[in-house]
Amino acid sequence: MTQSVDQVASAAASAVNEWLTAFQQALTVRDADAAAALFADESYWRDIVSFTWNIATVEGGAGVAELLRATLDQVDPTGFRVTEEPAEADGVITAWIAFETEAGRGSGLLRLVGGKAFTLLTTLDELKGHEEPVNDRRPNGVRHGAFRDRVTWAESRAREATELGYTVQPEVLIIGGGQGGIALGARLRQLGVPAIIVERNERPGDSWRKRYKSLALHDPVWYDHLPYLPFPASWPVFSPKDKIGDWLEMYAKVMELNYWGSTTCKSAVREGDGWAVVVDRDGEEVTLRPRQLVLALGASGLPVVPDFPGREKFRGDQHHSSAHPGPDQYKGKKAVVVGSNNSAHDICAALWEAGADVTMVQRSSTHVVRSDSLMDLGLSDLYSERALAAGMTTFKADTIFASLPFRILHTLQTPVYNAIRERDAEFYRRLEQAGFDLDFGEDDSGLFLKYLRRGSGYYIDVGACELVANGAVKLAKGQVAELTEDEVVLGDGTRLPADLVVYATGYGSMNQLAAGIIGQDMADKVGKVWGLGSGTTKDPGPWEGELRNMWKPTAQEGLWFHGGNLALSRYYSLYLALQLKARMEGMPTPVFRRAEVHHAE
Ligand SMILES: Cc1cc2nc3c(=O)[nH]c(=O)nc-3n(C[C@H](O)[C@H](O)[C@H](O)COP(=O)(O)OP(=O)(O)OC[C@H]3O[C@@H](n4cnc5c(N)ncnc54)[C@H](O)[C@@H]3O)c2cc1C
Repeated sequence: MTQSVDQVASAAASAVNEWLTAFQQALTVRDADAAAALFADESYWRDIVSFTWNIATVEGGAGVAELLRATLDQVDPTGFRVTEEPAEADGVITAWIAFETEAGRGSGLLRLVGGKAFTLLTTLDELKGHEEPVNDRRPNGVRHGAFRDRVTWAESRAREATELGYTVQPEVLIIGGGQGGIALGARLRQLGVPAIIVERNERPGDSWRKRYKSLALHDPVWYDHLPYLPFPASWPVFSPKDKIGDWLEMYAKVMELNYWGSTTCKSAVREGDGWAVVVDRDGEEVTLRPRQLVLALGASGLPVVPDFPGREKFRGDQHHSSAHPGPDQYKGKKAVVVGSNNSAHDICAALWEAGADVTMVQRSSTHVVRSDSLMDLGLSDLYSERALAAGMTTFKADTIFASLPFRILHTLQTPVYNAIRERDAEFYRRLEQAGFDLDFGEDDSGLFLKYLRRGSGYYIDVGACELVANGAVKLAKGQVAELTEDEVVLGDGTRLPADLVVYATGYGSMNQLAAGIIGQDMADKVGKVWGLGSGTTKDPGPWEGELRNMWKPTAQEGLWFHGGNLALSRYYSLYLALQLKARMEGMPTPVFRRAEVHHAE
């Protein structure tokens, strides 16, 4: 006899109810072992700020017990409950939950297998007494009545702009006004945390505008929304870079950010329990004294140009991909693009479109995934029109993604990429036949894991692969040995005549960028930024299970890192902002298991 849908639903609801009741009881009586016994042998509890004032994943009953012993008295969690009907599929019951702590209100996602927790995500969503001024709490915007001391909105914004950073110091200084700095600035604004964003470019959005001419976002619109202000429903699936630049500029303005363009941060040193930060604001040296310093310098901020012998002899144009002006002046010229990841492919395709004779130099294997396939098989359950039609929201999609433990994420991603390989078998065969070296990550787990582990090594194909496959863009392979006056010479002696050499050779680490501001000693003290510690290429162990140093307390009090693609930046900016707000309000914020420091580079 088969069970009806209602029976399955109510069985799932009672299983979740039973689990949450037992969990809450154990927490109430501070019985960490009883709570831990509710987790499966293989299980993962990821907490984002709510219990740990950190971003941390613990594993198995022992990890759960350790977390709870360290945090329970302080956190005093109450009211664990479901917020909608739990669902069951393939023996896994999934439940959206909510709870409260001493400090705030939280939510999360629970997955039960056989009555025990397999994964639990808990997040702190707002601080009690410091909720964002939304809906019923929204500001009035005007004081009705007649007042001789009336100050208009424009006057008060102008006063803030004059005073903040000069007679009034910001609580938070964000260095870097790309999308990361801007999203965090918006969160802090809503939480009433005085903040300044300093950006060496003139205008918000310039970090996108200044990239090569043909660039459009590789991620689709559903994945790219900024906090508070989603793109309109008519926004293109793939934003052209200048359009996203304009959106960021508009956003910074309407979200009332204190954005100092044309301002370069020179140095930041500790001073008491805060910072003394020297910036050059359009030629004027200003010293800012924030309590908290956020580095939002980007993972693509420090161009790496290999020091090939003979570079000084080369008579043509040569530049890093970040400085590539676009293809227009290279019609009929011979272009050699060193590198085979995203930038290399985009630039090769644009040069070919403009009528250049293009050669790509592949130095190591590259993960390639067709954009359509990535969207259909990788993203569309969470981020697509189909997902929206099925009731998915951006917050829910982000939360589901966040609830998948990094330890086992590759096991969930590998089947997706296996399906993509099958679907696009002919595409991959043609690329390999053209001599292109492909990989799918060291454990075949594909793009997103490569991004989290090393932030490089892939191309989302939006058309350039066809040019490589059909030979329109020539492929050369191997290391560059030297440049002559008019050639790129490879290790095997291959000589590539060139009028233009583009170094699509990637970017330095965020730690290197930070060292330029906080000094090498402090950068070493903080250690590597980004990467999970997977022990794969460019992501040395030991395992941390979270992105190193991102959005959470670092080894340096008062120093934080923020960034990531638009989706990560949107999601984690909330939790970083809440940590900063709590400190401004003097709330206790004991950090559970501050991560160890590894690998300064
Ligand atoms: C070719 C290319 C394509 C990409 N495509 C996508 C995509 O489709 N989707 C996506 O989400 N991401 C994409 N990315 C990644 C993208 O770089 C990041 O998502 C995004 O730029 C990260 O934003 P951010 O604010 O962290 O860093 P950035 O945008 O790099 O911003 C950092 C800012 O810090 C400023 N800065 C640095 N040092 C100082 C200083 N000392 N003083 C003042 N200001 C300073 C810089 O000028 C810069 O504006 C792409 C990157 C590249 C290179």
